[in-house]
Amino acid sequence: MASILLQNITKVFDNKVVAVKDLTLEIPDKGLVSLLGPSGCGKTTTMRIISGLEEPTAGKVFFDGRDVTQVSPEERNVAMVFQFPVVYPGMTVYENIAFPLVAHKVPKKEIRRRVEEVAEVFEISHLLKQDTYNLDAGIKQKIVLARAFVRKPNVYLLDEPLTNVDPATRLELRTILKRLQSNLGQTMVYVTHDQGEALTLADRIAVMNEGRVLQYDSPEEVYSNPRNTFVGYFIGNPGMNFLNCSLQAGESVCIMQARSFSYVLKNLSRDFLGDSEKRELIIGIRPENLEILFEPREGYVPFEVVLSEPIGNRLVLHLRSGEDTLKAKIPRTSVEIGQKVWVGFPLEFLKFFDAQTLEAVE
Ligand code: ATP
Repeated sequence: MASILLQNITKVFDNKVVAVKDLTLEIPDKGLVSLLGPSGCGKTTTMRIISGLEEPTAGKVFFDGRDVTQVSPEERNVAMVFQFPVVYPGMTVYENIAFPLVAHKVPKKEIRRRVEEVAEVFEISHLLKQDTYNLDAGIKQKIVLARAFVRKPNVYLLDEPLTNVDPATRLELRTILKRLQSNLGQTMVYVTHDQGEALTLADRIAVMNEGRVLQYDSPEEVYSNPRNTFVGYFIGNPGMNFLNCSLQAGESVCIMQARSFSYVLKNLSRDFLGDSEKRELIIGIRPENLEILFEPREGYVPFEVVLSEPIGNRLVLHLRSGEDTLKAKIPRTSVEIGQKVWVGFPLEFLKFFDAQTLEAVE
């Protein structure tokens, strides 16, 4: 297996498109790291640079401390699986999975043992004798994954492997991949734009935007302590709420002055502001962390419900108070459009971001 170090990687296409910008990322041996970000943020390019399919414009790639920047993909011994499964036509499922082992002249008996073992893991043992014609995308992707796993490479690079499979197979494959990775203890890099996938699978998530890694942390950390407003917004369903506020010194506490309301943060000492009387900040809070009351209570802020959206067994309320808007996620209940609710902002869930840099402030 291998640890991977990407050191100050930049990739520019056609002298103008900067796909990856000065990216440094350390992927530990046996780690399962997810590259997560919106379309076009540079995930696939980063993956192709790890595999050796793409050469960086600047920077270096190390496997286990060895500089492999100029080393071919074959010699790096990585297995890649892409979004669209490629099965070899005219071959049975067995022959498809066995293909890399045959190419490496592995003894026949050993091939049989390994193919049967991996087919069992992916629950396709019953299909081994079939040809691949007419199989659906989910089964094809299982075959491709089995073919990658049977090789036992140094590193697995999976680029949106579950995007085109049906939802039931997607869930099944998520569980299989997680189990395989923890049983085999192999280094795996997993590209996705689906945060649910990244949050359930990965040990660490690199949240990317515009060619850069904005945060590289455990799923818990990127969810609970986003380092900037982009991560706060991108992670979560819906993402974090942001309010442009001026935080002002009260008698002994701080007061959050939003555009249309003020709220006393009872447990935030005015010492938070140091010597200044006020500070312009963006205050973030997750929709599931707002306190929503259906009756007035002193200190709580009245908001009007402008939309109510069911998501699974929860409701997402779109709320408005003058110029300030929020989304709140609450257990399902009956709520009328136009109804008033009273909102509290529990201090333990508030995140403060610099209004200029959009970076988290301690
Ligand atoms: P997606 O989720 O849509 O696949 P991504 O995050 O994987 O996106 P990349 O495919 O790495 O992003 O692309 C990053 C940027 O580089 C994009 O602007 C893309 O158009 C550009 N790009 C990628 N490959 C090439 C190429 N071969 N030639 C020119 N531009 C490219």
